[in-house]
Amino acid sequence: MSEVVDPASGEVVGVVAATSVGEVDAAIARADAAFRRWRAVAPGERARVLRRFAAVVDAHLEELARLEVRNSGHTIGNARWEAGNVRDVLDYYAGAPERLTGRQIPVPGGLDVTFHEPLGVVGVIVPWNFPMPIAAWGFAPALAAGNTVVLKPAELTPLTALRLAELAREAGVPDDVFTVLPGAGSVVGERFVTHPAVRKVCFTGSTEVGTRIMAGCAAQVKRLTLELGGKSANLVFADADLERAAATAPYAVFDNAGQDCCARSRILVQRPVYDRFLELLEPAVRALRVEDPSRDTAEMGPLISAAQRDRVAGYVDGAKVAFTGSRPDGPGFWYAPTVLLAGSTADRHWREEIFGPVVSVLPFDDEADAIRLANDTEYGLSGSVWTRDVGRAVRVARAVEAGNLSVNSHSSVRYWTPFGGMKRSGLGRELGPDALHAFTDVKNVFIATEE
Ligand code: NAD
Repeated sequence: MSEVVDPASGEVVGVVAATSVGEVDAAIARADAAFRRWRAVAPGERARVLRRFAAVVDAHLEELARLEVRNSGHTIGNARWEAGNVRDVLDYYAGAPERLTGRQIPVPGGLDVTFHEPLGVVGVIVPWNFPMPIAAWGFAPALAAGNTVVLKPAELTPLTALRLAELAREAGVPDDVFTVLPGAGSVVGERFVTHPAVRKVCFTGSTEVGTRIMAGCAAQVKRLTLELGGKSANLVFADADLERAAATAPYAVFDNAGQDCCARSRILVQRPVYDRFLELLEPAVRALRVEDPSRDTAEMGPLISAAQRDRVAGYVDGAKVAFTGSRPDGPGFWYAPTVLLAGSTADRHWREEIFGPVVSVLPFDDEADAIRLANDTEYGLSGSVWTRDVGRAVRVARAVEAGNLSVNSHSSVRYWTPFGGMKRSGLGRELGPDALHAFTDVKNVFIATEE
């Protein structure tokens, strides 16, 4: 049993049983048996089941959002978006079973066709920072492709995943097709990696754990998608709309209290506008509403735990603080949004993923310098480019080594488009039109036609 805590108050809001290895093995065996049945369900019927699941999620949107506010400290506005994202991703991939077409390839002596075969049981391992969307990005396309799913939520944030499993049953998803198994990473998650009936692992979390999981999967040549850490750059050129760049920069890093793998946690500003940008950034950071996340007006809530707050504070100790925003007094794991000035690229807060509401700012000289500094990291998840010069926008977006770039915007995640990292930020892509292929293996069949 482990206690689930409301990060805004520190109060216990639930108790969840931890799944044992024996229970995980039994659930995987049931999911494996269910796979034989689920893959045989006609594509149109599989689509209908997923659409019903989306509709049931939609009918419980507010309940799911409120549950996430209590378990994860997300602002209610964000939590509503997250529950809506689960619905949208289910709806989007509900269109896929009936469109999962192979190819007919011209060959001599016969007919050659390809099929996208489901893999079997897929294990989805979810972190605590976006419990609902990250779960759905794994389970929705996996189920659409004809796989069954076992899913492990993070220890700190299991409540919405458990509720989604109940809603799936209510929507008519057959028994053992989608199973949520709360518990320890070293027990449940590890078993997904070592159990031979789990044919693919979708992992989102730290680069450290992801690296271990990749090594574990190698032993069985197990399919794997990794979405890992980030240290993304927000590049502001002198010709940019500075007012907009400064007004939006806080949201690009302090959203979800900075606990976002896509957080633009390094702001690079071209030297001639560096001082002016900081002048504009300061009131925007001070105005950010850090408050009880259940209020409609909240823009930032608490951090997930006391341990995370202490970790974040460790990066600020001894660093040069430009200015900070506000935070409420009282209980809960609060940390004020903080802007740091980087002395050099060697600063620890410039190099390491902080995963909290802390951003580092550094000036750059020219385009080449901006690209060099943006790429001077082991990570490559996302980034933003602010400029009015279209040619530069395209050149820089192409040159930054990251999977998701946005120009004059900070958008990273849209379910219609592929999402994932370069370098040590990950392997493979989620979402978008091709995600289903990551949950299938291509089979080629040749049929001789010669007499
Ligand atoms: P974490 O790596 O500690 O845990 C992630 C999940 O893996 C949890 O469910 C955990 O229980 C499980 N786990 C832990 N050890 C395991 C093991 N040995 N075997 C199998 N599973 C194991 O990460 P976290 O602290 O929960 O999340 C924060 C990190 O996740 C950050 O570094 C962040 O950048 C990253 N992240 C990346 C993305 C992305 O899409 N790229 C999204 C969200 C979070």
